[in-house]
Amino acid sequence: MSDAADHAGEAHPNTGGEFASRLNWLRAGVLGANDGIVSTAGIVIGVAGATSARTAIFTAGIAGLVAGAVSMALGEYVSVSTQRDSEKAMLRRERRELETMPDAELAELAGLYEQRGLTPATARQVAVELTAHDALRAHAETELGINTEALTNPWHAAYASAVSFTIGAILPLVAILLPPTSWRVPVTFVAVLIALAITGSLSARLGGARRGRAILRVVVGGAIGMAITYAIGTLVGTAV
Ligand SMILES: [Zn+2]
Repeated sequence: MSDAADHAGEAHPNTGGEFASRLNWLRAGVLGANDGIVSTAGIVIGVAGATSARTAIFTAGIAGLVAGAVSMALGEYVSVSTQRDSEKAMLRRERRELETMPDAELAELAGLYEQRGLTPATARQVAVELTAHDALRAHAETELGINTEALTNPWHAAYASAVSFTIGAILPLVAILLPPTSWRVPVTFVAVLIALAITGSLSARLGGARRGRAILRVVVGGAIGMAITYAIGTLVGTAV
């Protein structure tokens, strides 16, 4: 796994192939879980600051979980669909250009390989051979940075982010409902900070970043967020 983290740092977005795309999925999953933990913890701790009624805390937590999962899924669906549409449009245009002006396209491809450090003769030969093998793929990968076999499915992206958000959201929900009343907030606070340390560490590993700093950032951010929602909940609870 530490190998994976090292390589992730070097990989270019969109050009990495299957391994990098799996890493991107993992990273998105960890981020989704992180969002689920933070936003649900804020909601349940805020409501727990205002009332000790279990039903109210549970209702708010579940509503937050569902709303968050739906909004994550929708956002992901829209953004991946948009990206996919533009990639498909670029591929269509490339296919048309390959049909109407194959010579210019071959020269263009050879030029790109030259830019990458090949000698003109080698670049020409590589371009000729790859054009014979799969011209569209060669242009998509070299010119557009698109992997034609790994266009992300927007439904998969939507589903994955909803699921990862839900998994994250369940933790603060359980942590606030299980303990006796006076222990609810401290137990949730500690459980959430531990979970955030884990997701922070995972996402740092997957992204090839320094772990200590990533953990500190997410834990401090989560602690501040929970303190603020608890304070607001307490204020609202005594005022209303
Ligand atoms: Zn081209």
